[in-house]
Amino acid sequence: MFKNLLDKGKCSLGFHEGEWAFEEAGQCGQLRICVRCQTESRRTEHSWGEWAYVTEDACDLERSCARCGQAEIDLEHHWGEAVYHEEGSCQQVHLCQRCGETKPAGIEHQWDNWLYLADDDCTQVQLCGRCGETSHQNQLNHDWGPWQQDDFYGVPLRVCRHCGELVFNLGAGHLASPQPSLQEMDDLMEQLLAAETLEELYKLVQANQTSLVSPVRELYFRFAFDQYSHDDDLREALENMQGLLNLCEQYGIEATFNQLTGGDQAAEPVSGPTPAAPVSGSGQGQVDPRLAGRYRHTDSQYSDGFSMATDTHLLLDSNGRFSWSSETAGSFGSSQSGPEYGRWFVANNQLCLNFDSGSRMVQPFELSADSLFLPQEGHYRLWTRY
Ligand SMILES: [Zn+2]
Ligand SMILES: [Zn+2]
Ligand SMILES: [Zn+2]
Ligand SMILES: [Zn+2]
Ligand SMILES: [Zn+2]
Repeated sequence: MFKNLLDKGKCSLGFHEGEWAFEEAGQCGQLRICVRCQTESRRTEHSWGEWAYVTEDACDLERSCARCGQAEIDLEHHWGEAVYHEEGSCQQVHLCQRCGETKPAGIEHQWDNWLYLADDDCTQVQLCGRCGETSHQNQLNHDWGPWQQDDFYGVPLRVCRHCGELVFNLGAGHLASPQPSLQEMDDLMEQLLAAETLEELYKLVQANQTSLVSPVRELYFRFAFDQYSHDDDLREALENMQGLLNLCEQYGIEATFNQLTGGDQAAEPVSGPTPAAPVSGSGQGQVDPRLAGRYRHTDSQYSDGFSMATDTHLLLDSNGRFSWSSETAGSFGSSQSGPEYGRWFVANNQLCLNFDSGSRMVQPFELSADSLFLPQEGHYRLWTRY
């Protein structure tokens, strides 16, 4: 009883039982009738012979069934090692040793000589002795002359005979870490002098501080003042840059640029005042016609030959609107911010500037014929009427 159930279960899962038998002579179809459930199943079962090449010099293979005669074909090449195919080309191929067919096998250059790419550049690439192509891999290979003491710089130096690159010997301690060459310092200064805003300059100084703290910097200025002495503008720009970099070394880059911009953040130009606490009764203030006019606040910095000025303009119009803008000018270019707009009035004897952006400045003031004085303001204290 249980065996019956079990057998039924097998058949329902497809596991029938019985012998396979060919149905017809000369055909490879087989039939099986299940001994338990009589289900009929069919399959094809060829009697394949061995694969054999059809002809001597081709790679086509064939086999056939001994019972029904059906044939199958295939292709099997006998690929050899990758070899060069043509003179002057580095493209390699695999060659079939039986039929002579080829298939591509990639490029294999025969790198040998290193060559200079240009007369004023010591970058070298390799040349393929087979096809003449130049390599992607490259190396810097200066042809250094001997170290020699130099009276102008006061330190030993050597010069590359190929590209003219000049490096200084700054003693054992400095040789441990690579120092910029004179040319690298010149390129860097050119970048610094080309900066259009203080923010850009700040970023460049930050990014190149390792090179800029090198003693090569001062040697470079010695070279530059000598070399560019005929160009007054360039000389002055270099003097300013020298002063700035000295300050950066002395006080740190961050602190130096903070000083220049007069703000808390070196990377941002001078902006409007920070929000102040609202004054009680504001909004009921009045436009005081005595105050209407144009004012300028000037902030100058001068240090070690480096100068910088920020002019802030405040325009109070007679309708109670104002504009606030500033421009910074210095040896390294200029930048602007604003104008920002808002509403002004006087309440409780204080000047209130309500910026449209939401910032607010509320200050007691003293007005004279040619100036506006804000005694409690930390930065923008004295304004000149113009
Ligand atoms: Zn069955
Ligand atoms: Zn067959
Ligand atoms: Zn072949
Ligand atoms: Zn090649
Ligand atoms: Zn060189």
